[in-house]
Amino acid sequence: MSDSASLSSGSAVFPSLFISHGSPMFALEPGQAGAALRTLGQTLPRPRAVLVLSPHWMTRNLQAGSHPAPSTIHDFGGFPEALYQLQYPAPGAPKELLDHLVGMLAAHQVPLQLEPEAGLDHGVWVPLMHLYPEADVPVLHLSFPSHLTPEKADALGRMLASLREQGVFIIGSGSLTHNLRDFFGGSDDTGYVAAFVQWMTDTLEQGDTAALIDYRARAPSAERSHPTDEHLLPLMFAWGAAEGDGPGQSLRLPGEQIGSLQMDSYLFGAPEALRKALGEAIR
Ligand code: ZN
Repeated sequence: MSDSASLSSGSAVFPSLFISHGSPMFALEPGQAGAALRTLGQTLPRPRAVLVLSPHWMTRNLQAGSHPAPSTIHDFGGFPEALYQLQYPAPGAPKELLDHLVGMLAAHQVPLQLEPEAGLDHGVWVPLMHLYPEADVPVLHLSFPSHLTPEKADALGRMLASLREQGVFIIGSGSLTHNLRDFFGGSDDTGYVAAFVQWMTDTLEQGDTAALIDYRARAPSAERSHPTDEHLLPLMFAWGAAEGDGPGQSLRLPGEQIGSLQMDSYLFGAPEALRKALGEAIR
């Protein structure tokens, strides 16, 4: 386990992260993707909080969970009993951080409603079990506004970018590809996944925000990879939080391809020292 030297010395600026959370079974079967998240959590300095946007908490307007000890929601059916026994007892976000977030968004004319009853959906707690297995980092859970588009997701990330300088680790949780019909149907015809992933990796490496936002017209197999795009918009959100850092600061954290679900994650706004440390640790 390396220490905080992996971030440039004296810098408290966190990268941002897009996580592919896959199926809830990811909690029990971490595989390569889970190992990469675990290494990442051990390599970064300890954040003040993680801020996680997940499509499994969809609301009309933006909300944030404000319970001091949010519950673990098992928002899925038909999985092994062991999955329903898992708990992720991380503390909720500190009140001063929630208040600060409300103020930040208000400056952009974006109202944020605090929701004291919100628990953590599986898009939040399943990957966090690998990233921070001790459940000791406070979680600021952001809802997914139902009107979100690629452009709006990117803009929301940009609005929150300065939180990275305040020790907040901004995370968008979704899935790099997400065709559930192919997944549950056991389709063998998943060759389209690789082409989509390659396009995405290249586009992110080039820092081409315009192409990213227009992915549905430009990426190969975009509609097949995302029949609906709520699981990809968290990537635009995480990207927006770090796009001001310029191109060439992305790092792909490789995961398995499980049928039509590609489990790669991407780190954005990662300085060279961090990319190098992680590149050596994850392989
Ligand atoms: Zn999901």
